[in-house]
Amino acid sequence: MVLLAIVLAGAHNQPTAIAADAVGQVAVDAGEGAVSLSRQGAWHLAESDNFQVCSLHSAEQASAMARACERLRREVAELCGLRVERWSPRCQIVLHASSTSYVAAVGNNGAATVASALTKRGGARIALRKIDVRGDAHDYLTTALPHELCHVLLADRFTDAPLWCDEGLALLLDPLDKQQLHERDLRIGQQRGELMPLDHLVNLKQYPAAQRWGLFYGQSASIVRYLLQRGTPAQLLEFAELQRSRGVNVALRDVYGFQGVAELDRQWQASLKNSLVAPITLIGFAGVVNPLSAIAESP
Ligand SMILES: [Zn+2]
Repeated sequence: MVLLAIVLAGAHNQPTAIAADAVGQVAVDAGEGAVSLSRQGAWHLAESDNFQVCSLHSAEQASAMARACERLRREVAELCGLRVERWSPRCQIVLHASSTSYVAAVGNNGAATVASALTKRGGARIALRKIDVRGDAHDYLTTALPHELCHVLLADRFTDAPLWCDEGLALLLDPLDKQQLHERDLRIGQQRGELMPLDHLVNLKQYPAAQRWGLFYGQSASIVRYLLQRGTPAQLLEFAELQRSRGVNVALRDVYGFQGVAELDRQWQASLKNSLVAPITLIGFAGVVNPLSAIAESP
């Protein structure tokens, strides 16, 4: 470990998830769990209970981010009806200094994004949790991290979360203006008669081709929003779980009392005709004005 730190010294390669005691560390009393600071080459590392934040900027930025992420994780879990468990391994948050280094880490598909989450399984357990963030982007703590943390939290609950639910739920944590763009894509698809049949959407195992992303995101967010108007976040997750084991029709009947996916499709499409207002966010469902505004401002 120490050898690795020496090899990387001065380089801007991404830090590997190393034990913080490989180099000198300082415990900082954060008031809500300690944050340990260390260095790995040019990187400042801050470790809290569930996160390892890597910053090229400063130790202060890394530790402020670790504390903010701890709070954000609890808030997102609560809004989504998810239980929080101690993350081992910790979720590594890499704050990239530029879009070039960010795209090099996440790939060209992420060129238009500000953050990107990755979880990898090793057998029954999660072997890697990582969120790459464009540290040069404005407001990533409120605009991108709630969405990405939702994906990482969902990976605790599902070995293979249905794609529509994984994305649809995370999208409801996006800022309202972003959600309105997805809603616009949905409406355009609807006007053109291009909506995906619902039984196709709920069984998607892979992201559709890039030109269909807008519709996929818009439709997934809309279905999740509709189901959250019919029941609780816990019911939504129960439905997604049951869909995996028993199929969509049984899951819909048992959790929501629908006859099957055709009935859900009819009711959802009818709801689209009636909803003339801006999309409702998951934050709105929690009955709290804006709990995510309480998190630390961008370090
Ligand atoms: Zn997403």
